[in-house]
Amino acid sequence: SARHYDTDAQLYEAFTRETGIRVRTIQGDADQLMARIQSEGANSPADVFITVDATRLARAAQAGILQPYAIPHVDERVPAGLRDPNGLWFAITKRGRVIMYDRQAGPPPGLTRYEDLADPRFRGQICVRASNHPYNIALATDMLAADGAEATEAWARGVAANLARPPQGGDRDQFRAIPSGQCQIAIANTYYLGHVGKSSNPADRAVFERIGVIFPNQAPGDRGTHINVSGAGLVKTAPHAEAARRFLDYLVSDEAQRIVALGNMEYPAVPGAPTDPILTAMGSFRADSIAALLDPARAAEALQIMQRSGWR
Ligand code: FE
Repeated sequence: SARHYDTDAQLYEAFTRETGIRVRTIQGDADQLMARIQSEGANSPADVFITVDATRLARAAQAGILQPYAIPHVDERVPAGLRDPNGLWFAITKRGRVIMYDRQAGPPPGLTRYEDLADPRFRGQICVRASNHPYNIALATDMLAADGAEATEAWARGVAANLARPPQGGDRDQFRAIPSGQCQIAIANTYYLGHVGKSSNPADRAVFERIGVIFPNQAPGDRGTHINVSGAGLVKTAPHAEAARRFLDYLVSDEAQRIVALGNMEYPAVPGAPTDPILTAMGSFRADSIAALLDPARAAEALQIMQRSGWR
């Protein structure tokens, strides 16, 4: 698994309690795990591959390390738009990548779309992590599909010009710099803000109270807010394919969806499964399709565009 969230351990334990099947996890960087599964070939101990980012799931499918999971129950529970068209992987959770602002200052006028982040009126105001992080590559990949290469490059240059400081840290560090006045606008995933809102530390909750959320691109006819997923697939060389299928089936159960979504403050992939009230309170939104993310070549082009834009 390349998911880097502590609460996933609860999920594995709950599965073991229910089935008696022990889960051994190897955690690591998605690309390294994929390379390892490939190089180990038939000797690989890997049964299930879990990662965040739809493009990485698509790359795993393309690399030939997955086999069809072939679990009708999974296809009944997970909407078609959140599954591989060839049945090689499915989403477990969704997360939105949103724009955050200082509630004390109010919503920045004219900021309703990702495209607006490049507007010179936001000069020196934006905090966002490095452009080569998969979360930003995915955002640019969606934009590339929607707006084309020229517009995406102009956008990335515009964002680079609007940065309040050179990119540093993770998503959390971006909105944490809003109350201190270092940044007026941040780009981050929804669950990071959720974690801060749920924290037992009053200072964290004070940060949460200061942060407003804009779900971009919501106007009728617009593409919707960029989302990404975490997902799972059955490894082609799985030594325990039947146990692995039971685990994959378990992932879409009400119990697993509750553990995984509530645990990391994500949106469940299965419609109707619960989301944390803190997440619900951020607002509801229309999500963009993840279809554009399933083309690794497009993501590679998006990365190139980001790298020459001056957004480090
Ligand atoms: Fe993350």
